Amino acid sequence: MTTRNRFIAAAFDHGQVPTIACFNRATVGLGVNFARLLAALQTFVDDHFVPVWGTPAKLVKTTTFRKGAWALAFLDDADVANALGYHDLTPDGLPLSKVFVKSTLAVKQRVSVTACHELAEMLVDPAINLAAMGPGNVFYAYETADAVEEVEFTIGGIAMSDFVYPAWFEGFRKPGSAQFDHVKKVRRPFQILAGGYMSIFKNGRWTQVFGSPAKARRFAREDRRGHRSTYRGKTHRMRGVAVAGLTRRGALPRRKRNL
Ligand SMILES: [Zn+2]
Repeated sequence: MTTRNRFIAAAFDHGQVPTIACFNRATVGLGVNFARLLAALQTFVDDHFVPVWGTPAKLVKTTTFRKGAWALAFLDDADVANALGYHDLTPDGLPLSKVFVKSTLAVKQRVSVTACHELAEMLVDPAINLAAMGPGNVFYAYETADAVEEVEFTIGGIAMSDFVYPAWFEGFRKPGSAQFDHVKKVRRPFQILAGGYMSIFKNGRWTQVFGSPAKARRFAREDRRGHRSTYRGKTHRMRGVAVAGLTRRGALPRRKRNL
C-alpha cells in the first residue's frame, strides 16, 4: 500500500503519547548542541506546554524516521526537503515537521525557536485541519505559535517560542481576564502581536493577517515553503515521505508558495 493515498482527517494517535523522532540532516551548525536542544524541547513539552494544552510527547534523538513515530526533521532548506522527497507526512502517514536551518538563520532567527514553534503547533493540531471562529465570522487556524512568533523565553539558556493558550481562541473572554499566551504579552482573544501573523479562512479561502506592516514585509522576504502551516486547507492531499518501498513518488500538482 502507498502511504500517500491514505486519507487522514482527524487527530493522530488519539489518546496516546506520541514518540517524535528528531533527527538532524542539516549541513550547517544549529547554533546549539542538538542533544541539549532536544532536552530543552522535552522540558518545554513537559513543564510548559502539557500543563496548558494536555498534549504530551516523548522526543527521541534518531538518525532517520522511526516506525510508528511522528518526526521533527532538521534540514537545510525546502529545496533539500524536496530533493530528499520529504513531503507532508512520515513514511507511516504520521505528522512530520521540518525545521529549515539555513532558511531560519538567513532571516536571523534562532533554530531552537523555530523548532519549538513547529513542535508546539504539531502537538495541538497534528493534522493541520483545526480552526476556531474568531471576530467577524472568520475562522482562525488552530496554530499556537504564529500570533506570538517573535516572542521568546529561555529554558536552560536555550531560546524557546512563546505560544498562545486555549483562551486565545475563546472570543467570549474579556481583555485581561485570562492568560492568553505563555509570556503574558497578549491581552485579549485573537490578538496578534506586532511580530506575529495568523492564517485565517475568509471568503472561502485561507489567507494571512499580520500583526504589523513591518511583519508583513519580513514575512514576504522569508522562504515559507514546506512549513506545516502552508498545508492549511490542503490536508486532503497530504502525502507521505518518498522512502523506497514505502511510498511512490507522486505526480501531484506543485504547491504554490503560501505568501
Ligand atoms: Zn507556525
